[in-house]
Amino acid sequence: MSYLCPVKPTIPYLQACFREYNDAFFDGELPEVPIVLSRSKSFIGACTYKRRRVFGLGTRLSDFKLRFSTRMDLPEEEVQDTVIHEMIHYYILSKGIRDTSTHGRVFRAMMQEINTRYGRHITISHRPTPQQREEVRDKRPKRHIVAIITLKDGRSGIKVIPPTRHSLTAFLRGLRRSGQAREAGYYLTDDPFFNAWPSSSALKIYFADMEAVRAHLTAATPLSGNKNSGTL
Ligand SMILES: [Zn+2]
Repeated sequence: MSYLCPVKPTIPYLQACFREYNDAFFDGELPEVPIVLSRSKSFIGACTYKRRRVFGLGTRLSDFKLRFSTRMDLPEEEVQDTVIHEMIHYYILSKGIRDTSTHGRVFRAMMQEINTRYGRHITISHRPTPQQREEVRDKRPKRHIVAIITLKDGRSGIKVIPPTRHSLTAFLRGLRRSGQAREAGYYLTDDPFFNAWPSSSALKIYFADMEAVRAHLTAATPLSGNKNSGTL
């Protein structure tokens, strides 16, 4: 089962996970560790530490921290699996256990044991999947000018333009020159819905589901009161 966290994971939530899993999977052997939130899109979780040389003893690891990115909307189960993943790193590193690589034999054995015994789905990846990265990109509010163009043949389409006077002017010039537009309306919007179209001043009209497009423009600011709006 998988469902979305109602809210982004918080430090108290992650600490509660840590304590629960420490007792359940690690016999409570892990010392409390600082949990840090970040906005990184390059990792979901990370276990960081400092390496220092101790005379006669080689290197020692200290200052462990578990870091989690709140950038992605992950299903709660994935957040929990990420906590366990980082805890396995923390266990191996803090106990000075030698492994064959970062996610080597010891790591995988512990991971598989927890997965099989407790029905979890921990993986060896720290990185968001391309789909998760895409979702972050698509959801970020970004300012656009959206042009709604009705062509002389009656078809309507959309063009997303960067929100600068220069880009809008360049687009208008191209559109006028083409002589194909019957009507054009321009809107300023932050709705991430419009991130899906390439943003440029190039003369290219996309024939989209115009009902959905118009629904997303109800809250947009019409660029009225200037010669660029309304009928062209
Ligand atoms: Zn890892």
